[in-house]
Amino acid sequence: MRLIFSYMNKFEALGLGEAIIKAVNDMGFETPSEVQEKAIPILLKEDTDIVALAQTGTGKTAAFGFPLIEKIDSNSRITQGLILSPTRELCLQITNELKNYSKYIPGLHTVAIYGGASITDQAKQIKRGAQIVVATPGRMQDMINRKMVDITNISYCVLDEADEMLNMGFYEDINTILSHTPEDKNTWLFSATMPKEVSTIAKRFMQTPIEITVGHKNTGSKNVSHEYYVVNSRDRYAALKRLADANPDIFSVIFCRTKRDTQKVAENLIGDGYNAAALHGDLSQNQRDLVMKSFRNRQIQMLVATDVAARGIDVDDVTHVINYQLPDEIETYTHRSGRTGRAGKSGVSMVIVSKSEVRKIRSVERIIKKSFEKKEIPSGEEICQVQLFHLASDIGKAEINHEIDSYLPSINEVLEEFSKEELIKKFFSVEFSRFHNYYKKSRDLNAVNEREGNSGSDGSTRYFINVGEKDGFDWMTLKDFLKEVLELGSDSLSRVDVKESFSFFNTNTEHQERVLQVFEDFRMEGRKVNVEISKDSGRRGRRRRDNDGGFKGKRRSDGFKPKGRKRFDSKEDRGSGGNRKRDRRKRSDRR
Ligand code: ADP
Ligand code: MG
Repeated sequence: MRLIFSYMNKFEALGLGEAIIKAVNDMGFETPSEVQEKAIPILLKEDTDIVALAQTGTGKTAAFGFPLIEKIDSNSRITQGLILSPTRELCLQITNELKNYSKYIPGLHTVAIYGGASITDQAKQIKRGAQIVVATPGRMQDMINRKMVDITNISYCVLDEADEMLNMGFYEDINTILSHTPEDKNTWLFSATMPKEVSTIAKRFMQTPIEITVGHKNTGSKNVSHEYYVVNSRDRYAALKRLADANPDIFSVIFCRTKRDTQKVAENLIGDGYNAAALHGDLSQNQRDLVMKSFRNRQIQMLVATDVAARGIDVDDVTHVINYQLPDEIETYTHRSGRTGRAGKSGVSMVIVSKSEVRKIRSVERIIKKSFEKKEIPSGEEICQVQLFHLASDIGKAEINHEIDSYLPSINEVLEEFSKEELIKKFFSVEFSRFHNYYKKSRDLNAVNEREGNSGSDGSTRYFINVGEKDGFDWMTLKDFLKEVLELGSDSLSRVDVKESFSFFNTNTEHQERVLQVFEDFRMEGRKVNVEISKDSGRRGRRRRDNDGGFKGKRRSDGFKPKGRKRFDSKEDRGSGGNRKRDRRKRSDRR
């Protein structure tokens, strides 16, 4: 016999009704997440605007979905709630969630509206009565223009993933759509980050919103460490492969800026024998589902994705996020790095940058309030070591296939004369020589100043100075310091390159004497600061270009090969709307 205790479910305690509680139980939610705990009681009790900031994957959908469903009158067929969301995927995801939440509320209908599907079908569904409409801004505009939807009586408008909608250039659409809604509705804004565009929206469209922040504003997961690698632009791809090869068990999402780059990088990786695939908006829904399925069950180790396509991916155990390029909007970095370090696991977010982009790393640091570690792209030798030990440990862990037993005597005969040590060496040579041969002729991919030189032909002189990162300098602060002590303008100082314990910089050659004079006997906190004209011509980077494309044609041969990558023009969110055209090309290339 079971004893049944009656106690108040934690969701009931938030004030939710029976029908939703039943659905919550079906879904297996036990404890409300922090954003749910904070937002739901407020939204249930008060008629207020709200701005809620919480990371991706923290349960924001239910945080607005539960109270919205509670407040909707399912007896009326009027559209009462509008949810705007940036992409078709999210639109469908939210709609499905809401349908799940409201499955015990007869007569409550949620309809999804998004580009790339029949607008008349969507109009029909609305006509049958949809109290809640979940829409992408583009398609919503179209339907308003064609009078296929009436939002003049809504009581609630949810702006979900507001930061992403603005990133995608939907500001004007949102503006127009909201102008068709009543003044006295409540607006609920949910976002992972709060860039100034989001605060602008909040100021413009909301009345004294209550603000809820979960965790630290704009902060990435504690479990994620951030690293960056400086390479010459043309070495980006080779660097990516080194990073993958140095992490044999990598399970990663690789972010590119555009669909074209995404496709290209994925194709190259596949061509080079990696288990990789592309995920972007030019793939059909079907193809995308297939890719995601292969990723989830690990047939794909490297998922190359655009920011938009990767939105809403919730796959645990991603070990690495690799920023093949930094995002255009640095706020987006938070979303990217949030793909790893989930479910209590630790993760690494790596950024490959060219030298001119290093300063962007500083801006990202300010946003995530964490610092990056500058790392070196591993050398061929390091990679060989890693791979070798990985192979050894794989062999150690391998389960023995006893079908081999019957052949053992004859195998023994062949190998009889060798000691254990020799056997190991031979085995590894068979398995490893190709890899090793490939990498032994590889070059250093870490960017060095190519054009730097002492009295260069460009009329500048390069100097060595014995202060660096360990003295707390980065290139900006060192430049400021030099400007001040040398009394030089910004234009006269260039190529400030800070290393761990020393640095380099250039001045116009005409200032050479002054520089040497100032630093002849210069002390900083008691320590002598030494400046010399650099003997390093800085031309290391000009060495022979041996075609370092990373290792080719090896290990990951069993992998998933995406089938025919049919291209078609995604119509998603391309309406007839006028002012959207301006942004269209840029936006559509980022999906
Ligand atoms: P966000 O919008 O913040 O990125 P979602 O609303 O998409 O996050 O939720 C992420 C996942 O967590 C979904 O699969 C959702 O079903 C699940 N989830 C949400 N709330 C809870 C909860 N209280 N308990 C367990 N799982 C939850
Ligand atoms: Mg969400």
